[in-house]
Amino acid sequence: MEYSTRPLAPRRQSRPVWVGAVQVGGNAPISVQSMTNTATTDVAATVAQIEALVAAGADFVRVSCPTVESTKALAAITSRASVPIVADIHFHYRRAIEAADQGAACLRFNPGNIGKPERVAEVIAAARANHCSIRIGVNAGSLERDLLDKHGGPNEQALVESALRHAALLDKAGFTEYKISCKASDVPLTIRANRLLARQTDAPLHLGITESGSGKTGSLRSAVGLGTLLGEGIGDTLRVSLAADPVEEVRVGLEVLRSLGLRQRGVSIIACPGCARQQFDVAAVASRLEERFAHLLVPLKISIMGCVVNGPGEAAEGGIGLTGGGRGTHQLYLDGKPVRRITLNSLATEGREGAEDTEGMAGGILSSRHTEALIAELAQEIEAALEEAGRASVSETPAQAPSESATGAVPTATAPPRQADG
Ligand code: SF4
Repeated sequence: MEYSTRPLAPRRQSRPVWVGAVQVGGNAPISVQSMTNTATTDVAATVAQIEALVAAGADFVRVSCPTVESTKALAAITSRASVPIVADIHFHYRRAIEAADQGAACLRFNPGNIGKPERVAEVIAAARANHCSIRIGVNAGSLERDLLDKHGGPNEQALVESALRHAALLDKAGFTEYKISCKASDVPLTIRANRLLARQTDAPLHLGITESGSGKTGSLRSAVGLGTLLGEGIGDTLRVSLAADPVEEVRVGLEVLRSLGLRQRGVSIIACPGCARQQFDVAAVASRLEERFAHLLVPLKISIMGCVVNGPGEAAEGGIGLTGGGRGTHQLYLDGKPVRRITLNSLATEGREGAEDTEGMAGGILSSRHTEALIAELAQEIEAALEEAGRASVSETPAQAPSESATGAVPTATAPPRQADG
């Protein structure tokens, strides 16, 4: 049995825009991006962080360019980075021109913020000459005064009018290689603004909840906001903004997409919450395997289920599955089929003297030795499955032509490439 990974709603039709070699919009997979928090002038640290983000699954990465020194450093960064780089420009048009000249693949830049039309024309000319796209980024916290007055505050009408006003400047110059974001820290406002915007432009939309908060809170807020929009077919690229290591942003972004069946890149761990029936420490095994295989970019579903109540059904869905069995004997599944038992019964009974239960539900089965032994066995199986499939355990080329299985089955070398979101 395979569960459906059919998206909840048809994807909104947007025109394709390119960020370097990565297509955003059209039928391209929804891309995941993040932003460095190193000093851009520190080229080594910035490139190292970019590559850490790429290893986690980022399709492209944004870098702040607040000063002329930072745009100078961009040349070395863009030539060493393995993914396209978006230059984050806020106010100074010269930084935008410099960034385009130094190899940025996209400028995050609002043409209405830089004043004179000649300056806008200069930036557009630099973007054109360097095959650089633009992202218009509107935030509720920095809306134009006249729009706040007109609409009575930072609401969705003000956000969308601001975005379309910037877009009109690019349209007027015949420059259509742009995407748009409308962000707020307020989740319902972000949702309403993007719904409204989606009806008024065919530009690709970049989704995000701005200043969403620290790890757990920010991840949840982003998942609710982005998930709602993506579930309606809205959104072509996303950034989860967290007050945390940016690598987490990429992991959360991919998980949001995986949860909706929109992308399958990387390991997806399905684990039961565990209860008195669990035959091993489900939480420990699941979190340790998630950590250990976080670097994998090939799609792989791993189900970790504490007992036979739901285990076989979940494992039958494909990928690699483990179901807890009595007396320290657990069942391993590959591609939905039971392949062998992992027997740890000597560890299962350890420390259980005097225990009353007869099903092996306490004592040794939850011990750290049992957990470690199980993780080691399972990790070996996962590595072997990947090796046998002829796929490297690290990396696939990001975004352009993903080979993403819809089922999360153990990856095979012969599986045809597939665009996850059609
Ligand atoms: S699968 Fe078993 S161990 Fe896990 S929550 Fe359900 S009943 Fe409990």
